[in-house]
Amino acid sequence: MDSSILQHPNIQRTKDKVRLTAARLVDHHINLAVTGLSGSGKTAFITSLVNQLLEANEDANLPFFSVVREGRLVGVKRDVQPNLSFRRFAYEDAMLSLSKAEPEWPLSTKGISQVRLKIKYKKSSGVSKYLSKDATLTLDITDYPGEWLLDLPLLDMSYEQWVEQCQSELAEPVRAELAKPFLSALAALKPMEVADELILKNIAELYAEYLHACQKRGLQLLQPGRFILPGELAGAPALHFFPLLPIYDSDLSFDSKKVAKGSQADLIINRFEHYKLKVVQPFFREHFKKFDRQVILVDCLNALNNGYYCYQDLQKAIDWLLGSFQYGSSSILNRLFQPKIDRLVFAASKADHVTPDQQGNLVKLLESMLRSARKNIQFNGVKTESTAVASIKTSRTGLGELEGDNIQVLQGQNNLGKTITLFPGEVPQACPPASFWDAQNFEFPNFMPPLLGGSHSLPHIRVDQVLEFLLADKLK
Ligand code: GDP
Repeated sequence: MDSSILQHPNIQRTKDKVRLTAARLVDHHINLAVTGLSGSGKTAFITSLVNQLLEANEDANLPFFSVVREGRLVGVKRDVQPNLSFRRFAYEDAMLSLSKAEPEWPLSTKGISQVRLKIKYKKSSGVSKYLSKDATLTLDITDYPGEWLLDLPLLDMSYEQWVEQCQSELAEPVRAELAKPFLSALAALKPMEVADELILKNIAELYAEYLHACQKRGLQLLQPGRFILPGELAGAPALHFFPLLPIYDSDLSFDSKKVAKGSQADLIINRFEHYKLKVVQPFFREHFKKFDRQVILVDCLNALNNGYYCYQDLQKAIDWLLGSFQYGSSSILNRLFQPKIDRLVFAASKADHVTPDQQGNLVKLLESMLRSARKNIQFNGVKTESTAVASIKTSRTGLGELEGDNIQVLQGQNNLGKTITLFPGEVPQACPPASFWDAQNFEFPNFMPPLLGGSHSLPHIRVDQVLEFLLADKLK
């Protein structure tokens, strides 16, 4: 064929158009949500995810991330985030803390924040491989506290039912002890008297203090979620309510119809309803519709360290949290918000706190925690994966000797900056019975972040596998 025909301006224009259309066809978008309860490792995880992607073609270590392994990743850059009213995810601050001569952990998640990345890559297959040069995947990552997810079941509860639930939680001696200041202030309240905002505010603060005290003791099933992490609602009257536990004469009994208008009880119930309608509902409506992939981080090791009761409490919190992802037509989430999440990763975080030979057990432990909820999710066609990750690997593995046998040991820096070598112990494959804890405790260590030296990429365990599961199908 005469090649000058191909140079004709009309042909050139058509070729350009085809290229543009093809590029549009292959440009994808993923809305990834990362959640987990306080301290589960969300900030560290997102920092690592962003870091691995930004440094993917430099010194990041991502053997299981196919687009990198196949040499098709052109480049990644941070872009303007889509929702301008969210906090910008503080990636640069986090990297600054981690790059210090004495590295520090970045500040934990306190509310919702976002980061957008543009991932430019070469197509591996299909017609578009020939038609377009590079394609782009836009990745929006949203970080939000798992505590806010725990509020979802409230939407199906009346105030009376919520009080009943709080009462059953307080049957636990640990909680009852911590609730004493709240309970004694509550006993002095006269619910039928004319409403006094200041009195309600003071008692609500005691209720929040009780929840914070529970959190300090390692408990995780804490509601309402905004009492723990209020975000923009700190100090707002929307949070000045609490459960009127049945320590009053039975004639009150919280039949909302019997509560006098303008009374303390009336105001409390109104605020509870306001919380459901104006705080919890909008959060799910605004965000869940948009998310299409989700990571849930669970700190199983810390729960083991905190003992049987805390472990069981985390189990309950996880059941509640995963209730949010049940896709059956009767679930609250589906009824109200119709989410479209199609891939879900459950990750046991901080896997660098155990020796490599125990990481399989850590995944089994996580799976035992998720068993019932996970069945439901798979049934509803969501692809799920459970794994154990270290977003930022802080330890090295070596060999030690125990009673004549060679065993794997870990080496890392404690919070005094001292290098320690230890055998952190075995991870059980499921929660041991209560009697086990009578005889012994778990003591998985905490390490300081590693010295990065000249490297710009964060050492990790299996973050590349998580990236592969979450992104690879959109980078083909
Ligand atoms: P968030 O509350 O979910 O945002 O939790 P963070 O990401 O702030 O993590 C809480 C703490 O867990 C950090 O300050 C670290 O001490 C620890 N941590 C988080 N991720 C890792 C990890 O990958 N390895 C280790 N060793 N510790 C971690």
